[in-house]
Amino acid sequence: MKNLSEIRSLLKDFIASEEFPYKPYGKCISVVVLRTTQSEAIFRTDGELNKEIVSAGVKDSSPITRVIITKRKITASERRTGREFGRLKGFISESCSINKEMCGDCVDCLTYGFAGAEKGETSSGALKSRVITENSYSILEASKISDIKTFNATTEMGMMYDVEEEKESKRQRQSINSDEYVKPQSHFVDIETFKDLRFPEFLYAIGNIMRTTRYGATTTRIGKVKNKILAMVFSEGEIFSSLELVQNVWDMLESKEHPLDTQTVENTVLKATNQLVKSLPFSTRILTGEELKDVISGISEAYKSPEEELIPLISDLSSWRKN
Ligand SMILES: [Zn+2]
Repeated sequence: MKNLSEIRSLLKDFIASEEFPYKPYGKCISVVVLRTTQSEAIFRTDGELNKEIVSAGVKDSSPITRVIITKRKITASERRTGREFGRLKGFISESCSINKEMCGDCVDCLTYGFAGAEKGETSSGALKSRVITENSYSILEASKISDIKTFNATTEMGMMYDVEEEKESKRQRQSINSDEYVKPQSHFVDIETFKDLRFPEFLYAIGNIMRTTRYGATTTRIGKVKNKILAMVFSEGEIFSSLELVQNVWDMLESKEHPLDTQTVENTVLKATNQLVKSLPFSTRILTGEELKDVISGISEAYKSPEEELIPLISDLSSWRKN
């Protein structure tokens, strides 16, 4: 296991220095994430699962319909995890709210960005996100991993209401509805790119991937997902897309029947990642296996006793405001 200062020196060429990075340098850490549903899950926007028709693979170009977890849902869910932790530990103030006014100074605003005030209001500025997410694609086609079922909306959906949920999922469901859901043990693959993040921001964003377990609307209690980071790619530019990765995985898989064996999927995603990394037109370094495990367990350890090192680091970020 590596401690935080060892991890920092390992990443040093691919993270920004302590000062806020006003100009992009293109220092990228791309995190390859396998997301496996652990229960029935609903990733919908308007009552239906989000889907896209794309080529099955690169070699196999026949069109298939894949379920997607939208990039908005990924960011919103992971931010929510981080912001809950921040409020609990006091490094995100009560006054910083995604739906009302964002402070612009906490680790969450600095890392994922925030929008300026509406026209006519006093603006506290705006920042772009330096965490670039993409839609996460199911490996198998929608018809293999989804089904329709009747959920009792009043009990299953609960009455929970989170003001930070995306606007579209605010419409509460009042009655018994039939819903299209994703079966347990369905696999989704995507890449999150951390561009010019500073070390504490990196710890915050990766911690949110490691700690988030639900990607459905907050009004539902179904939709447990297990995230596993399979690789980190360090590069001086953005790497291939999530779609390319999932298509390469498809070409390599022997069985395409649900449920796929998770270990086989992990091995295949790694194989495809290694192959795609080799074809990139710039130098890269890829972290997998034991080396990656050492980094992940070091970060996980830091989150277990966050008061020691983690919180002091993420509460002491220099601001982007020029005084
Ligand atoms: Zn904030």
